[in-house]
Amino acid sequence: MTPFEYQRVNQPEAAVEAISRVDHAKFLAGGTNLVDLMKSNVEHPTRLVDITRLSLSNIEELPDGGVRLGALARNTDTADHPLVRQKYPLLSEAILAGASPQLRNMATNGGNLMQRTRCYYFMDVAFPQCNKRVPGSGCGAIDGFNRIHAILGTSDQCIATHPSDMCVALAALDAKVHVAGPMGAHFIAMVDFHRLPENTPQRDTNLNANEIVTALELPAQGFTKNYTYLKIRDRLSYAFALVSVAVGLEMDGNTIRQARFALGGVAHKPWRDTTAEAALNGQAANQDIFTRAAELLLRDARGYEHNAFKIDLARRTIVRALTQAAQGTPQSQSNKKIA
Ligand code: SF4
Repeated sequence: MTPFEYQRVNQPEAAVEAISRVDHAKFLAGGTNLVDLMKSNVEHPTRLVDITRLSLSNIEELPDGGVRLGALARNTDTADHPLVRQKYPLLSEAILAGASPQLRNMATNGGNLMQRTRCYYFMDVAFPQCNKRVPGSGCGAIDGFNRIHAILGTSDQCIATHPSDMCVALAALDAKVHVAGPMGAHFIAMVDFHRLPENTPQRDTNLNANEIVTALELPAQGFTKNYTYLKIRDRLSYAFALVSVAVGLEMDGNTIRQARFALGGVAHKPWRDTTAEAALNGQAANQDIFTRAAELLLRDARGYEHNAFKIDLARRTIVRALTQAAQGTPQSQSNKKIA
């Protein structure tokens, strides 16, 4: 591990100042991803700014009926919080589908957003080619073993996926990410928070290097009756998604009044497509319309040597998730391992 400075701060303003003062500084919160990457020499920050003492752990209801989740609230506390369980069961299910109980006890909401890809070539410095780790070095995955990689929004620089389950639900729920920086506070829509790789795969998000995530804001509409988080993976627990789908439907009898769905495990960011969602609005819930929505969402999907199976897997997972949500049968027991 490369030597680094350590600094603890007590106020968000001090955190912003501390991280702005030197290049390659990083915030330390739960440390569940960053510390691992430091130990394996993937990350080598010059300074760690410990933000665990900041008062950013509250989970509270907002006057408009929405809920604000502090950036430092632990994933377990968020998933188990009565407000989240009652108003956003989709989010609770998605969080509980991720990682292990021990990791969720440590990991924070802000850290969940900032976690990095688990691409083998990124995680292991023995591989010289990785544009995300070493810009300009090439991409080991494109012509390598790419079974877990992306099928949507890829570039000739990077085909990595974002690993989070929580972020997929946040995208479907239209959450906002509140941030603070030298220019003050503002928010970024969750769907715009993560980036596609394009020519800068080293940048995962649209957060500037001197900004800090302070909170997540959920709108009042939580899709409490018709929702599903369906995660398909190689093992039943402690595995990243090959494909996951977060669905929220507003139903009137068998008619879909409003549809939201996002995919995980298939792109460099949670993948939403409003064209596919619009195809469902006002329609009777049935297999044909769900298949049509899946085809629309996957119309630009591209498979590589080892991951082309994900296109059909994604299609079937979308249809099944929409079916479950329309029937009002969500549930984590439907989070399956791949056959
Ligand atoms: Fe690196 Fe992205 Fe290629 Fe993986 S897919 S090796 S993270 S550039």
